[in-house]
Amino acid sequence: MRSTLTRPVVVGDRTELEAARAAQPGNVALVPTMGALHEGHRALIRAARAAADAVVVSIFVNPLQFGANEDLARYPRTFDADLEMCAVEGVDLVFAPSTSAIYPEQPIVTVSAGALGDVLEGAHRAGHFDGVLTVVLKLFHLTQPSLAFFGAKDAQQLVLIRRMVTDLDVPVQIVTVPTVREPDGLALSSRNRHLSPADRVAALAISRALRAGEEAAAGGAAAPAVWATAGKVLADEPAVDLDYVALVDPVRLVDLTADASGPALLAVAGRVGSTRLIDNVTVQLSPTRKRA
Ligand code: AMP
Repeated sequence: MRSTLTRPVVVGDRTELEAARAAQPGNVALVPTMGALHEGHRALIRAARAAADAVVVSIFVNPLQFGANEDLARYPRTFDADLEMCAVEGVDLVFAPSTSAIYPEQPIVTVSAGALGDVLEGAHRAGHFDGVLTVVLKLFHLTQPSLAFFGAKDAQQLVLIRRMVTDLDVPVQIVTVPTVREPDGLALSSRNRHLSPADRVAALAISRALRAGEEAAAGGAAAPAVWATAGKVLADEPAVDLDYVALVDPVRLVDLTADASGPALLAVAGRVGSTRLIDNVTVQLSPTRKRA
């Protein structure tokens, strides 16, 4: 059977990218990814497709954001399936560079995430966000989008990208797409394929904890009680080796005290088997006067 899909143009180096971009009329939306595309990525691509004249998806596993003991070598790579999804979703251009195309030499000048990059994920992955921001800024320069789409699943990454765009006057509009989950609550992640069936069951404690925190907040609980409620669910699942559970201000990423109200980021990271997972929700803390 012959495919009727229009294949995206696939480019791997700067010259090809420049030529392909020059041929694109109108405004362009970029969806930066590390490949191994799943329904979460699909949601980003669809949002981009609905918002712009042309959609560019980048597929690049960025060594700069992986620590020495992290999973760069075993990060899943499913390029053919990724291209298939891009074709189905009407992506115009896939930029899939080699490491040497992005980093012809080891960069000396990089973007510093500053203090916001030292907490939560940054406390466990030194230099991670410097690597993320450096590659995202490079991808912005190379692909020249008007809009760029990122998932709420990586909440701290989003906070930092928004800060970078503001602090460094980067002319790109950042759009957030809600986290896509499995029906049982597990947030989709390229790393989920490394979970054994038993790991996968244990991993559900993460989304369960977030939901419990969300419900506690909806019931009027103050920040410390919301945090403790989520923590208790995770404490009851020893197969989740917890890095942190945190309830923080969604912009400044600082811990919240009992008098906090309004939106708060409840974030969890932990290892299940050999796989490190992160997830988060935004909860609404009620004003103190409304609490029982
Ligand atoms: P990655 O390929 O993991 O670097 O992710 C590329 C983009 O997809 C990032 O903006 C992620 O936040 C986003 N993303 C990953 N998983 C999900 C998900 N489950 N729901 C929504 N967005 C996601």
